[in-house]
Amino acid sequence: MDIRFEKREQLKEKPQDESKLGFGKYMTDYMFVMDWDRGEGWHDARIVPHEPIPLEPACVVLHYAQETFEGLKAYRTAEGKIQLFRPEMNARRMIHSNERLCMPEFPEEMFVEAVKAIVRVEKDWVPSAPETSLYIRPFMFATEAALGVHMAKSYKFVIICTPVGAYYAGGIDPVKILVEDELVRAVKGGTGFAKCGGNYASSILGQVKAEAKGYTQVLWLDGVERKYVEEVGTMNIMFKIAGEIYTAPIDGTVLPGVTRDSIIHILKDWGYKVNETRLSIDELMKAGHDGTLEEAFGTGTAAVISPVGELAYKDDVVTINDFQIGELSQKLYDTLTGIQWGKLEDKYGWTQEV
Ligand SMILES: *Cc1c(COP(=O)(O)O)cnc(C)c1O
Repeated sequence: MDIRFEKREQLKEKPQDESKLGFGKYMTDYMFVMDWDRGEGWHDARIVPHEPIPLEPACVVLHYAQETFEGLKAYRTAEGKIQLFRPEMNARRMIHSNERLCMPEFPEEMFVEAVKAIVRVEKDWVPSAPETSLYIRPFMFATEAALGVHMAKSYKFVIICTPVGAYYAGGIDPVKILVEDELVRAVKGGTGFAKCGGNYASSILGQVKAEAKGYTQVLWLDGVERKYVEEVGTMNIMFKIAGEIYTAPIDGTVLPGVTRDSIIHILKDWGYKVNETRLSIDELMKAGHDGTLEEAFGTGTAAVISPVGELAYKDDVVTINDFQIGELSQKLYDTLTGIQWGKLEDKYGWTQEV
């Protein structure tokens, strides 16, 4: 792929204090952009200054949400190398998301090449303080200006980057989760498995309700019976019950997380039985009360592992592991972050040097 480079007149000032990076506050100097037009396909790959993108007010994405995205990170190792974690998984997932939204395929090799190209240009933006990283956000949207609902004739694929701080600056704190029993996130046949903006637009109300009650995240139940546990706002979720692991299956309504897949690999490697099966909220709350629910944790790129300390469903509340991170959750966190930041041997071959 030929990538044109357009230099900025002046580079931005980088944030000095890497302990205050937060998430998504600072945008780097450049972005990768490529266009797709019917008849022509993908063309005009370029790395240009990160700046506003002019959009025709009638463009399809602004009205009908034809948009998909991805999220991955670039990690700086102690030796100063920069590496990505399973970027081909993000590339493939975006292909599936795009298929569902009738958007053109952005080929896997091109995706990984584009990510590496922008990270190379922005290598000085990859922070080096412990557990910081450069968050990479590829996304695609319909640009054609025409108001009828249809598959658009033109799209943009863009990658922006933002340095992010240690997710657990003050130690790993378990979160309080509210089980949403009214609103739903996904149904079979819908877009639950796709990483698309529309899924998030419709999830915000649940999040707002949860926050108003003092909870940090929503646990979504299946959209038909509101009975089976599916996933948390931006994370998949796993439970350790009587020594075995339970997580929702990937069958159309749950987002196939790269972290989820990696954790399942590691758990099986360690000899755990992992049940990718439907688990009802009643069974889960019962396990919480009878003491067999040993640990619960979310999995996702941003936090890696997010232990759950409390689950509330209707009038019932359970506390998990005395509101402490569980032994297994901690070990999984240390193992996966160890591989990502190059502190542990990558025996699965998951990292790629940029
Ligand atoms: C991105 C995302 C996840 C986590 O996926 P990772 O690839 O592990 O970061 C889980 N659930 C939803 C709804 C997501 O959008």
